[in-house]
Amino acid sequence: MTDKRPLEVAVFDIDGTIFRSSLLIELVEALIQEGIFPKEARKTYSDAYNRWIAREGSVKTGFSYYEYVSKVVAAYRKYLKGVRRADVWAVAEKVLGFHRARVYRYTRDLLKKLRRTYEDIILNKEEILKRAVEKNNLTLKGSVGVGDTESDIAFLKYVERPIAFNPSLKLFKYAKAHKWEVVVERKDVIYRL
Ligand SMILES: [Mg+2]
Repeated sequence: MTDKRPLEVAVFDIDGTIFRSSLLIELVEALIQEGIFPKEARKTYSDAYNRWIAREGSVKTGFSYYEYVSKVVAAYRKYLKGVRRADVWAVAEKVLGFHRARVYRYTRDLLKKLRRTYEDIILNKEEILKRAVEKNNLTLKGSVGVGDTESDIAFLKYVERPIAFNPSLKLFKYAKAHKWEVVVERKDVIYRL
């Protein structure tokens, strides 16, 4: 009989957690630069970008990084229609190649340490985690999860060791209230709060 012992799982958010920027934003910008999306696509998110850069607004009133990213998602959805998939893939590969090394040390090294990991890029992170565990004979016992914004709370709740990495204010407050680990990486220092 084969060994059906379930594997431990580790879940990492990517943008802002492993990657020191947003692959989503880099991809949309590259699609515009390559002429696959029209220049007007930038108008969808330029106001939100300027407000975020100027640190206007607050968590309560909006204009947060999250809002800026949401507008970039909206631009991507709007201008993707009618674009050839091969064109998007070609640009995505260029973006990945260019930014390959632009990662945080903490999560990069943690990934190395955790030999068996499972990554997925999807909006409903909680659902994908549950499905991945069911279908792939994984166990959440001894599991690790790392995320940087409140959209990661849904899956972080399911793992045994949730880590809030460079967290947004909402995630930070939630993590503190639930006694989760909080790690901040700035310059060449990794802080454990
Ligand atoms: Mg993120």
